[in-house]
Amino acid sequence: MGKIAVLDDNMINMIAAGEVIERPASVVKELLENSIDAGASKIVVEVEEGGRKLIRIIDNGSGMDAADLALVFEPHATSKIRVSDDLAGIRTMGFRGEALASIGSVAKVAVASRTTEAIEAYTIENDCGDKSEVRPCSGDIGTTIEVRNIFYKLPARQKFLKTPKTEMGHITEHFTRIALAHDDLDLTLCHNGREVYRLLSGQGVKDRIQVLFGQSLSEDLLETSRAERGMQIRALLAKPVAARASGKYQYLFLNRRFIRDRFALHAVKEAYRGLMEPNKYPVVFLFMQMPPEDYDVNVHPTKTEVRFDNANLIHSQVLAVLRDKLLGSNLDVSGTAPSAKPFSPEHLSGFGAGQRKERIQQAMTDFFSKPASSQHQRKFSFSNTKRGEPLPQTAQSSAATALPDMPAFEQSESWHSKQFLQVHDSYILLQSEDGFVVVDQHALHERILYEQMCRRLREGNLPSQRLLMPHSFEVTNAQLEAYESQKELFVKLGIEVEPFGPNTLAIQTFPALLDKADPVEFVKEALDKLVEEGADTDSERLVHEVLDMAACKAAVKAGQSLSEEEMSQLLKDKDIVQRTSRCPHGRPTTISFSMKELEKQFKRTGF
Ligand code: ADP
Ligand code: MG
Repeated sequence: MGKIAVLDDNMINMIAAGEVIERPASVVKELLENSIDAGASKIVVEVEEGGRKLIRIIDNGSGMDAADLALVFEPHATSKIRVSDDLAGIRTMGFRGEALASIGSVAKVAVASRTTEAIEAYTIENDCGDKSEVRPCSGDIGTTIEVRNIFYKLPARQKFLKTPKTEMGHITEHFTRIALAHDDLDLTLCHNGREVYRLLSGQGVKDRIQVLFGQSLSEDLLETSRAERGMQIRALLAKPVAARASGKYQYLFLNRRFIRDRFALHAVKEAYRGLMEPNKYPVVFLFMQMPPEDYDVNVHPTKTEVRFDNANLIHSQVLAVLRDKLLGSNLDVSGTAPSAKPFSPEHLSGFGAGQRKERIQQAMTDFFSKPASSQHQRKFSFSNTKRGEPLPQTAQSSAATALPDMPAFEQSESWHSKQFLQVHDSYILLQSEDGFVVVDQHALHERILYEQMCRRLREGNLPSQRLLMPHSFEVTNAQLEAYESQKELFVKLGIEVEPFGPNTLAIQTFPALLDKADPVEFVKEALDKLVEEGADTDSERLVHEVLDMAACKAAVKAGQSLSEEEMSQLLKDKDIVQRTSRCPHGRPTTISFSMKELEKQFKRTGF
């Protein structure tokens, strides 16, 4: 007798279930997708014990008749595609016809359904492959599916289920993805009889984000969209300050399907490059639309992976849309000083709210309108206004203004004040249109240098100057190798390095922009960075990491007192390098305090 036997249907289904049905959350995902495909406008998800005990999905979609119900648990039974050509233009969430067959093979499932035309509903059950007849029953238009005791006949798989809390977390995640992509649906999620989310149609994706992720995230989102080259992109972007330690909050959707795509994700990362710490993940919600013929979703059973015909297009479009928005936005953190303790009533006695308002306003105006000299008498004092040399970037920045392909930055909120105050030789305080701004001198200067170098690099190599004497230094073998393999990088940066005896290199030229940095220290550190990164790292990224480093080294330090000219130059350059409120390491460069904020702090609101 031969050894090969054809597997029976239930075995086939169980094997398929191993791929698509990993845990209760996979069931929720598949069933939600089915309800959406059935045109439902309202879906309720009820879960007990993290879905281990029960998952019930109730929809008001088109329903199934008795004949369809009889086939619903058959493998490869689908109403969504008929011929192979259909695969090229999938417009539905499902199409493989394996979800219900899989679920039915690993749990106790009951489906009740009624079509719009029918006067009664029908039901069918499937207990781990043991199917019932189709029978009439009572029920509303639409479909209700109950999945009980998942994996109860498969102890090996049941063992891998986690606590109800963890499983519920996965369910919530899938629910969230569907909810974000389908803001036209009424969606409810209940756990153990308690309502977790109730999302109404027509509320808009931003409101959904608020409900699902909280107000502080949603209210600070930047919104942008573009339709170009056969592709529509809508994005809601969190400011760099909201970046997370993992990529969990990067929601990408393609034609309303949640996907993970390395091209799009890479573009997101690129877009935030230099605006935040490189090892963090920005929070983004990205909705892409393109003809289904331009990509393939039939790559993996769970369909979160897709294959684009033109992945470069995705990358460049996503990058362009995001980068434009980020560079054109004020990424400053709005000031949220720790709230002061409530004033006791006696503090307020003596003058009313109106008077208080006037007094504070007057004090602010006085402070900022007095000539600098008189500020000395105040509590704060200007730094010794020693007429130091102008900051190193001065000459370069005026050159930068003349560069032809400078991105068109929006005009910033104007910082009217010609007066400013250096606080503890580290921060600069100045009046803005609707309040005041605190500038971190190091962070801002670092940012300016970084942007200037980026712009210069787009034009060619950084302009360099020859050092009076070559600076030589010893290197390890690893450093030497790193130098050999990345010579180009140094050329780009305007750093000419030459061998100078065994294990010794000499620096001949160094970029003018970095004249505050020590050449040897800088090159050594850059080499260490290269060693650390390994030879095959993306050279583009390397350049930017080295630029980060360079900017940090060459920027004025905290604790360094600045002359008035230096401060004024720094603030002027902030306008040139507009919209760059975070230093490359992700710290904010400026924090603005609005009058409103001040009023709140001074308890002047609500009188
Ligand atoms: P697929 O979604 O890939 O077609 P499924 O196994 O998920 O495969 O579903 C099989 C078929 O059952 C679907 O094609 C659809 O015709 C029908 N179906 C499943 N769920 C529903 C539902 N909630 N409402 C109406 N029809 C449904
Ligand atoms: Mg399906």
